[in-house]
Amino acid sequence: MFPQSVFPDSAEVDSQGELILGGCKASDLAAEYGTPVYVLDEDTLRARCRSFIDEFRKIYPATSVSYACKAYINPILAKLFLEEGMGFDVVSGGELATTVSAGIPMDEVYFHGNNKTPQELEEALEHSIGWVVVDSFHEIELLDRLAGEAGKTQDILIRVSPGVDPHTHEYTTTGILDSKFGFSIQTGHAAEAIRLGLAAKNLNLHGLHFHLGSPIFELEPYRVAVDLVLRFAAQFREEGLELQRFSPGGGFAISYKREDEPPAVSDYAEAIISTMTETCQDLGMELPSLVIEPGRAIIGPAGVALYRVGAIKDVPGVRKFVSVDGGMGDNIRPALYQAEYEVLAANKANQELVEKVTIAGKYCESGDLLATDVMMPKLEAGDLLAIPAAGAYCPSMASTYNMNPKPPMVLVKDGKSRLIRRRETYQDLLHLDLV
Ligand SMILES: *Cc1c(COP(=O)(O)O)cnc(C)c1O
Repeated sequence: MFPQSVFPDSAEVDSQGELILGGCKASDLAAEYGTPVYVLDEDTLRARCRSFIDEFRKIYPATSVSYACKAYINPILAKLFLEEGMGFDVVSGGELATTVSAGIPMDEVYFHGNNKTPQELEEALEHSIGWVVVDSFHEIELLDRLAGEAGKTQDILIRVSPGVDPHTHEYTTTGILDSKFGFSIQTGHAAEAIRLGLAAKNLNLHGLHFHLGSPIFELEPYRVAVDLVLRFAAQFREEGLELQRFSPGGGFAISYKREDEPPAVSDYAEAIISTMTETCQDLGMELPSLVIEPGRAIIGPAGVALYRVGAIKDVPGVRKFVSVDGGMGDNIRPALYQAEYEVLAANKANQELVEKVTIAGKYCESGDLLATDVMMPKLEAGDLLAIPAAGAYCPSMASTYNMNPKPPMVLVKDGKSRLIRRRETYQDLLHLDLV
């Protein structure tokens, strides 16, 4: 059965058993652009943006939705997200430069990161970025000084770590005590940061931010952390902290496997906003404007990776390896986080699943396996495999390990495809090396 829940909205299988994405046959896309290739469904991207904006604003109009660029960004996508009314989270000078090159207005751009360099902060000031989300004592001092030198007052939020475990992979858990991100509330560092932020001459502290981790399949961690951080903020009212802006970050889950049941966007909205309004009421605190920061939940479901099958190695009684022409260079998530994916034979999608195989990449690492023990139809060299839910944290984390060029990105809609990033060439790879 076709696992529609992990594929883009427009995906279907035709009567020949061919996967169709955005009205384009997967085999035609593979023939035109080569493999591996990442296909993004434009309608799904836009629908995901709208769903976050609509579901939150329906209950709480003073919400802005900021796309976390690290999930994947390029200039064409930045313009598309801007059209849909999104703001932007950046975590590096490079991501900032991408939004600048796309002509994104800077007032709804937020700069995150636990160790922004002096150069990155100078660039942010130069471009008059809307918000810097300050993450360390070093940064408070540095940004205050650089803003002063630039003759500017920088609007900031302070990132706190509430000590709430969202029950996800340890590498993607960020809001607990033992984390490099944010000022811990528990240790007293968050309190100290707020006092320093209020006192800094060239910084204007507007509120607090936290981000628990990702993907978060439960609503309770958001409820607990929103309540905890608002109660914490209220302690500083007399010292001059007016909570005008408040962000519970991103981390909203998506379906990677057919059995996954992430909360609906409306469920996240209800949990966050009802907690926020109840706690503020309880504290007699004015309601802040709300900033949410989805990355994965916007672009993850829109992306499908297409690979061509090559070598097949059967170790009798042990395992059958089906190797494809991509792997950890374009999708490191299985190796890094033990992430699991569905795999569909894109040219045999209506054939019976007859054998258990392991889908291996082409990189020189035994850990380069894209999917372990998945049921597939009888596969042979030349078959096309599709890995869905691959839009987020795959191409954005890509490397050129083994000197493999990074794959192209293609946007599909209504039977038309458009290249938004071309495949790297050997020349691109060699371009930076001096000879
Ligand atoms: C990564 C990140 C996000 C986005 O996380 P997703 O899981 O992609 O939604 C949001 N806010 C901050 C501060 C982040 O670091």
